[in-house]
Amino acid sequence: MTDAKCNWRRYEELRPDDLHDLVNAHPVAYWPLGLLEHHGWALPIGYDGLKADRICQRLARQTGGVILPTMWWGGGGGHGDFRWTHYQSQEATAAILDSTVRQLFLSGFRVVVLLAGHYPWQSLLNERVPGLVADHADRLLLAGTELTIADLGLQGDHAALEETSYGLALFPEHIDMTALTAGRGADSTWSTAGAPAESGRHPGVEYDPAEPLFGQLGEDARQANADRGEAGVVRLVEELSSQILRFLGES
Ligand SMILES: [Zn+2]
Repeated sequence: MTDAKCNWRRYEELRPDDLHDLVNAHPVAYWPLGLLEHHGWALPIGYDGLKADRICQRLARQTGGVILPTMWWGGGGGHGDFRWTHYQSQEATAAILDSTVRQLFLSGFRVVVLLAGHYPWQSLLNERVPGLVADHADRLLLAGTELTIADLGLQGDHAALEETSYGLALFPEHIDMTALTAGRGADSTWSTAGAPAESGRHPGVEYDPAEPLFGQLGEDARQANADRGEAGVVRLVEELSSQILRFLGES
């Protein structure tokens, strides 16, 4: 990296002296908020966290700073009956979120970015962020999903056209579009409780494992492409990085 601003590291890999120096130079902490959740046959289980982490990497390249380990333990959403999905209670995740943000500001970070890849994080952010902002008036706390953290009109869905396009732009190595095939049986598809009753089903989600678009909510993922995802990511990174650099007086 030749640009002096391109100075970012992963928090957990740093020794205290390195962390001290890096935070003095670039006091920005990125925290990807993810989840382990079934995202259809083509996308990885950690899709939401991977999406947030990769966007944070692009932001960190622009602003410098650190990226915290992805918060994999979240909750909320319509896929609790799908196998491989882990939802935690709102109270548990709220407590970790709240205390970690306070600790980061106390440690000297001037900017904290909570980027949620899993859309139901939004309700918890709505609940907790106003208090955190009020308690840290001289700092910058940016929080939201890629759809809400900036007012850019980006689109989202669940594992369908939009999320698959972001994924193809950000981590094509973890995606297999050829897995969108028909004819799978229901074996190994549901959590131990089995398929959800009709009344417990999230409207719009495909619940038939024999369908290629199983688990998805939104437009056909088979139309997804990296250019579509990339266009949104580029706009988001440009907007957020300029907000952060303006706040830090570096632009
Ligand atoms: Zn998702």
